[in-house]
Amino acid sequence: MIRAIKGTRDIFGIETKKWRYVEQKIIEYARKYNYGEIRIPTFERTQLYLRGIGGETDIVNKEMYTFTDKGGRSITLRPEGTAGVVRAYIENKMYADKSLKKLFYMGSMYRQERPQKGRYREFRQFGIENIGSKEPLADAEVISFAYNLYKELGLKSIKVEINSIGCRTCRKNYIRALKDYLKPHYEMLCDNCKRRFDTNTLRILDCKNPGCKKITEKAPSTTEYLCDDCKEHFNEVLHYLDVRKIPYSVNNRLVRGLDYYTRTVFEVTTDRLGSQNAVAAGGRYDYLIGMFHSEDIPAVGFAGGMDRLILLMEEEGLFDAMDEEKPDIFIVAVSNDVRDYVIKIAESLREQGFSVETDLSMSSMKSQMRRAGKLNVDNVLIIGPDEIDKGVLTYKNMKKHSQKEIDIKELENFKKILE
Ligand SMILES: [Zn+2]
Ligand SMILES: [Zn+2]
Repeated sequence: MIRAIKGTRDIFGIETKKWRYVEQKIIEYARKYNYGEIRIPTFERTQLYLRGIGGETDIVNKEMYTFTDKGGRSITLRPEGTAGVVRAYIENKMYADKSLKKLFYMGSMYRQERPQKGRYREFRQFGIENIGSKEPLADAEVISFAYNLYKELGLKSIKVEINSIGCRTCRKNYIRALKDYLKPHYEMLCDNCKRRFDTNTLRILDCKNPGCKKITEKAPSTTEYLCDDCKEHFNEVLHYLDVRKIPYSVNNRLVRGLDYYTRTVFEVTTDRLGSQNAVAAGGRYDYLIGMFHSEDIPAVGFAGGMDRLILLMEEEGLFDAMDEEKPDIFIVAVSNDVRDYVIKIAESLREQGFSVETDLSMSSMKSQMRRAGKLNVDNVLIIGPDEIDKGVLTYKNMKKHSQKEIDIKELENFKKILE
């Protein structure tokens, strides 16, 4: 037997219904905030991710699915969405009319991580990108989209954690201060952080190692080193969150390791077993587009994983009331000579918008009834040769355990029968 590849999975049955529910909510929120959908390729030139995600990250260092295609090109399966959206934005000259572009995407991403609960090598993510505004209004709108969406999905104690990591100018000062602070503790840092000390000092702040955490507890905070412009930007973002009554806390440990991230970084967290867990992460990346394009274009966005989101929603019991999908009507053919008739009735009911199931295996009436029972169908129509002659059929309401003979003409408006 050929099995699915480790870290991938099949989603079917009631599971797909959960997925569609979440996807519909995302689409609904994109509509509410006027973000248009963009569908980007699932693979791109490796170079795009090397530059767009950055060489110092785990993603690029060890997690990408990279291969050489038959034309000798290095190709990578997309590990995230932003790089592809930015490539599409530039390639399609979406900057040409100088207007703001608001885009959302959704789909499979690929990373060769160690599979664990809620983590897959093919996983699904959605995200929004707000491209073309440097204003705090844009940051606050993106955060509000994320916050309101997760709240609407029903997750517990949704909160926003937010920080500002400044711009090219003020971040230099901060990193210098951070290095000065860390220097006396250098020997106590974990091996990863020793390496990061010179290449990616900021990332030491979000190291999970307890020793490193302890050391950075009293580290200077990024917000103390912001230049006036960055400080004002940050305060305005917070102001627009206050206006919306979105609960947030400033978390000075929240950072992004890459140079093109600027100012706002945020996470949306939910309460899980008493501790706050991130469900979405985002921020401003004013210098990313300039790495692929002739000029910098400011942008802000966020991304959220959907696999873990659905797992969390399951744990919260948010899908408990969800039923397996079932047809509205099952039509039982009493004998094989009424099959043509059954087909016609089924199609006419489908035209009226109903979901209709019929027997496709030439089964006996008894086993058709059994199948209708198994499907838990509320409405069953029974058609036999005698009834056809009389122009009637039997309608069984399974919920009410009632049965009556109805005129074939009544089927032209089945909704009325249900009333
Ligand atoms: Zn600054
Ligand atoms: Zn560390």
